[in-house]
Amino acid sequence: MKNIILIAAPAAGKGTLSEMLVEKYNYAHISTGDLLRSAAGDGTVLGEKISNLLKTGELVTDEIVFELLEKRLKENDIQNGYILDGFPRTLNQANMYDELITKLGLDLGIVVVIDTPYETLKKRIVGRVLCGKCGSVYNTLTGVNTPKVDGICDKCGSKLEKRSDDNEESFKIRMKTYEEKTAPLIDYYKEKGNLFFINGESKEQMLKDIEALLYD
Ligand code: AMP
Repeated sequence: MKNIILIAAPAAGKGTLSEMLVEKYNYAHISTGDLLRSAAGDGTVLGEKISNLLKTGELVTDEIVFELLEKRLKENDIQNGYILDGFPRTLNQANMYDELITKLGLDLGIVVVIDTPYETLKKRIVGRVLCGKCGSVYNTLTGVNTPKVDGICDKCGSKLEKRSDDNEESFKIRMKTYEEKTAPLIDYYKEKGNLFFINGESKEQMLKDIEALLYD
């Protein structure tokens, strides 16, 4: 399968699309955020350093990200195709990644931007509620996955909670960071000729759009 780089605003549907592709096509899902979180808890000096950086919410240094990514890209399961989620985050990382794949003999594949309207993103984040016990996710604003009883988990009956950063204020900050850092990446890949847009308004549409690219 073609390798995929996903570029998407917060709550645009990256996680959902990745899950569908892993399940249907056996893609390897590589999230640099997950790689960093797992390294942060390994009890080493480097882990401690990563953990401190993650707490600040700032981007982790390219050196650390690339060390973890290179190691991950040497594992066997990527041979069937992999999805990069949360990477590259900056133009510098995109340049360094080009060098890394040349060194490892890997294919850039396609770069996919999930295009989801601003108002939908806002509703997905501001309306998101989670079950504190079983982790099920609901939304009170989008009309998709509305809990049957307000404030109560359909699955286990526990109380639903809000994540502290799922509010309008924090949404605006996350969008601003995305727009500042990501716009140059879109132009970068557009010039290379491997950039595509898919519609992120529904699960079904995202899968349909991306399948058209995979079989092209
Ligand atoms: P995420 O799970 O993608 O939201 O990432 C969580 C955190 O991990 C981010 O806030 C950054 O601190 C760090 N991170 C993830 N990916 C990268 C990356 N490509 N470059 C630098 N830092 C990253």
